Amino acid sequence: MTSTVLERTPLHVTGELLSSRRIGAHHHVTLVAPGVAERFRPGTFVAVTTGPERLARRAFWIHKVKTSGGYGATLELVVEPRGAGTSWLVSQPAGTPLAVTGPLGRPFALPTEPVACLLVGEGYAAAPLFPLAERLRERDCPVSLLVAGSDEADLLSALEARRSARAVTVVTADGSVGRRGTVADVVDEVLQGAGAAVVYAAGTIPTLHAVASAAEQAGAWSQVAIEQPLTCATGLCHGCPLPVVGESGSPRFVRACADGPVLRGDRVVWDELVGP
Ligand SMILES: Cc1cc2nc3c(=O)[nH]c(=O)nc-3n(C[C@H](O)[C@H](O)[C@H](O)COP(=O)(O)OP(=O)(O)OC[C@H]3O[C@@H](n4cnc5c(N)ncnc54)[C@H](O)[C@@H]3O)c2cc1C
Repeated sequence: MTSTVLERTPLHVTGELLSSRRIGAHHHVTLVAPGVAERFRPGTFVAVTTGPERLARRAFWIHKVKTSGGYGATLELVVEPRGAGTSWLVSQPAGTPLAVTGPLGRPFALPTEPVACLLVGEGYAAAPLFPLAERLRERDCPVSLLVAGSDEADLLSALEARRSARAVTVVTADGSVGRRGTVADVVDEVLQGAGAAVVYAAGTIPTLHAVASAAEQAGAWSQVAIEQPLTCATGLCHGCPLPVVGESGSPRFVRACADGPVLRGDRVVWDELVGP
């Protein structure tokens, strides 16, 4: 194998939980997972064991990587305790060993020209957009952010968002911060204001659908990071079929974990997609 193929091959490692900090509605969980951070690209995820009682690992976006420090490279995940697996993970003490596989999936594709980009993130799912903003800025792409959540606690890193982008719009469903409403309510206007040629989005299925439709109407490219319930998360079991239309316009299924989770928004057959 060439070195590039090797670098992109996911690793199965025994990592270790370094810390878990609650910030708003989420927990920021830092892990040491040897080799995984070094292979990270924005939009990829890890599958992490969540306790001895659950065989299936749970998927998490990689939010940050830090390549220096006493422990070597570390990964930061943003976890919203929802069910048994996520609740277990956020309650573990430092030093807990964790089986980690990753980085998994196809990352966001980066523009080759310094075009304006809009990044739309909802709740914890905004996690992969922050490292993406960094990569886009390195390519001189003007970055605007639209950050959404149900309330203030659900907004991810609103302060950091202001450092990451030239313009930030915040919307919350309860109006506690920013404008009251949803991504769907404001995306057309924000897209127009940003003059974006590419839109990247991560959030719930209805939000991604709204963003993809707005981008298509505005003549912009969209790339959406889709969360579908995964089984093996590595592409082997074909247990996460996602309906798309191919280049020729004919419908087919791709694997959400391995052919996604990032896909072109105009390729997804949204009406057949049911959110978890
Ligand atoms: C590619 C990918 C990246 C993800 N990144 C993150 C992340 O960064 N942080 C995070 O907290 N979660 C993330 N998730 C979602 C997380 O993996 C699932 O919610 C997982 O099932 C939670 O495990 P659990 O045992 O706590 O809850 P479960 O018992 O598995 O599920 C609890 C409830 O949540 C519902 N549910 C399951 N999956 C989802 C989902 N994707 N979205 C919304 N509801 C769901 C179930 O239907 C059930 O009602 C990601 C999922 C995918 C596919």
